[in-house]
Amino acid sequence: MDYEAARSALVSSLKGSIKDEQVIKAMLRVPRELFVPPEEKHHAYDDRPLPIGMGQTISQPYIVALMTEALELTGREKVLEIGTGSGYQTAILAELAGFVVTVERIPELARVAGDRLSALGYKNIVVQIAEPNIGWQAEAPYDAIIVTAAAPFVPEKLLNQLAVGGRMIIPVGSRYEQDLYKVIKHKDKNEIQNLGGCRFVSLIGEDAWDEE
Ligand code: SAH
Repeated sequence: MDYEAARSALVSSLKGSIKDEQVIKAMLRVPRELFVPPEEKHHAYDDRPLPIGMGQTISQPYIVALMTEALELTGREKVLEIGTGSGYQTAILAELAGFVVTVERIPELARVAGDRLSALGYKNIVVQIAEPNIGWQAEAPYDAIIVTAAAPFVPEKLLNQLAVGGRMIIPVGSRYEQDLYKVIKHKDKNEIQNLGGCRFVSLIGEDAWDEE
């Protein structure tokens, strides 16, 4: 299979809805086929989520592009990602930001993603295994936060890790369907925009859902 050609075709199809040229270029640079299990490789450039093991999924490319665009990255930001999974979204962030802290609950996924991102040469990513307190307080505040698992509400503890002027993208809703929220933190209030419907696997923890 010609992965380069398949990647170009998929990314071209995103251009109608994704206007940020830098996001488009990053999607062209990161080889999604290296982030999926061998048996899913031929589906790597279908615009849909794919299973990555442990009951988790790699997000749909369109959703990755949409969430990344909404973070409004310029190349200098410190970004926090909750839910490393395959590491694909992490790689896209690392292409567009200064430094990425990514946190994953399942140690095996964190290990595989960390090895994969190192092998690809990324030096501006740190993969951490999730602690009971959501996020990664040690490196806070972050210019941007992206949550790639579904939350029942916007966790206050995560908002506290966001810098004033920062953006958080987070799917909020039930375990089965959510709306993608963009939360902009102002000095004295938070502004919430709804970017539309989506479906993510559950965010697990004290400030989210119980393990099923
Ligand atoms: N961004 C990923 C999508 C992974 S799916 C990708 O591009 O592949 C969501 C991930 O969030 C799962 O791997 C799941 O284990 C993880 N997760 C769920 N709750 C979490 C929490 N509280 N902290 C960190 N990771 C969590």
